[in-house]
Amino acid sequence: MIVMKFGGTSVQDAKAIERAGDIVKGRLPQKPVVVVSAMAKVTDQLLAMARAAGSGDRKTALNLSRALRERHYNTAGELLGTALFTEFHGDLGVYFEALDELLRGIAAVGELTPRTTDHVAAFGEILSSRIVTAAFSAQGLDATMVDSRECVVTDNEHTRAAPLMEETNQRLRAKVQPALDKGRVPVMGGFIGATKAGITTTIGRGGSDYSAAIVGSGLGAERIEIWTDVDGMMTTDPNLCPDARRIKVISFDEAAELAYFGAKVLHPATVLPAIQKNIPVYVLNSRNPGCEGTRISARVPHGKNFFKAIAAKKRITIIDVAAPRMLLAHGFLRAIFEAFDRHRVAVDVVSTSEVSVSLTVDSNESIPALAADLAKLADVKYEGRKAIVCLVGENLRETPGIAARVFGELSDVKIRMISQGASEINLTFVIEEDEVPQVIRRLHKTFFSDLDPDVFA
Ligand code: ADP
Ligand code: ASP
Ligand code: MG
Repeated sequence: MIVMKFGGTSVQDAKAIERAGDIVKGRLPQKPVVVVSAMAKVTDQLLAMARAAGSGDRKTALNLSRALRERHYNTAGELLGTALFTEFHGDLGVYFEALDELLRGIAAVGELTPRTTDHVAAFGEILSSRIVTAAFSAQGLDATMVDSRECVVTDNEHTRAAPLMEETNQRLRAKVQPALDKGRVPVMGGFIGATKAGITTTIGRGGSDYSAAIVGSGLGAERIEIWTDVDGMMTTDPNLCPDARRIKVISFDEAAELAYFGAKVLHPATVLPAIQKNIPVYVLNSRNPGCEGTRISARVPHGKNFFKAIAAKKRITIIDVAAPRMLLAHGFLRAIFEAFDRHRVAVDVVSTSEVSVSLTVDSNESIPALAADLAKLADVKYEGRKAIVCLVGENLRETPGIAARVFGELSDVKIRMISQGASEINLTFVIEEDEVPQVIRRLHKTFFSDLDPDVFA
């Protein structure tokens, strides 16, 4: 079997859903399980409604919900035609009544918890998987919806829950495999799951890719296909740099580094289940299905270029902890990291000197409290609006002098931190956020102008 995951833009309207149906039809002999995201922008809108309701603004929340209802009805109407839609209309209506009920409840209490946030956010994938299943059936596919909340079992870390693989695999075998065995096409919502007790959870923004990998690993897929709106993984974000080129093949390790440092074409957690079972992942374009996309797998040719790609991750804050009093004191770093742990803030890049430690974190609302806590240990400063730039490639391992080339190229740019990871396949540095576009374009021009045709398209 294979897993085919369609992202938000690939199910954003009736035309996109029909295209997805055609692509699935072409893969029937390979026994596809389809995983879908919410229609494009829907998760953002649901979260906006939840926040409005949480602040007591019931009217805004319900207005946003009405717009969402119309969009889903219109799409379903276009896909199904009058007769089928009349039947289906009531099914969809039940979900929107439940959503409005929930929003009214949140507004009445005036408090939005992570658990309630997940309940609201989950409607995106619940609705899209219902509509896509009905549309595929109308297109002649033997599609059947499988509720992901009955298959993907997670812990209770709401809004970023982690899957419990053993339970999940058992459920997948019990609920999805039988449909496949009957020759049917199971359709599941990505991003959502439920705790053992059945409480709805979500696995983090952009998590439908991860859902695809969870399903693929649980059912022993031959391949996992991530269908999106670009031709594959590119040498950099094509929105930042129009010269970006398609990477034909990339290793699991390289793809994981890129995803982690900002290439949102793939959710960072996607690669792990695939690595564990050695399942190749393909990134493909649902608007250009003839293009061969990017293959991500264990062994790939390195090619002659230094790097495979550049990624940038914005909205980063640098935290500087200076510690003259604790100079060389044993346990100082531990105390610092314990503070990050208590505030549940993840650190990306670290650099230390004898008297200070600099760390980067995603900008977020826990930072002031964390800084106050750290200030008990040492002098603390923090500064937002930074970005991490990351150059990735297996060839970094073997080639001396690359860092000199990179920073020589950027001699006029203020570099705040530098790190070359232990994986030896990434070179990472921190700059001002507003410098990202020009830095990426310059590096791209220097390092990606003359590309090895074995690796790049
Ligand atoms: P989906 O909704 O299908 O999950 P996403 O918006 O999450 O799609 O990811 C696709 C987007 O990722 C592209 O439109 C592109 O702007 C962005 N992107 C960032 N870095 C890269 C990269 N290196 N290669 C391809 N796309 C990238
Ligand atoms: N719909 C979810 C999001 O927007 C998950 C996904 O699309 O991958 O974050
Ligand atoms: Mg995505």
